[in-house]
Amino acid sequence: MLRKLRGDGTMKTIAVSFEDYQDAVDSYQGWCPVCQSFTRDTTEPDAEGYNCPVCGEHKVVGAEQALLLGMIEPDMPEF
Ligand SMILES: [Zn+2]
Repeated sequence: MLRKLRGDGTMKTIAVSFEDYQDAVDSYQGWCPVCQSFTRDTTEPDAEGYNCPVCGEHKVVGAEQALLLGMIEPDMPEF
């Protein structure tokens, strides 16, 4: 039986590697939930509502903010 996944709107949590996440924080990359990837440079980790150079939407958020908002889910290493 097929079951449709029902999300709340356009928001979708994307799995990223921890390395990519850490790299994005360190190099101030911004996450675009529309493009579903890090598309913007010089974006503070806690930024919100920045423009995306790829799709043009003002939905880019900083890497830490993307994590807080549940847009991305870094694959955390186990210690
Ligand atoms: Zn975009």
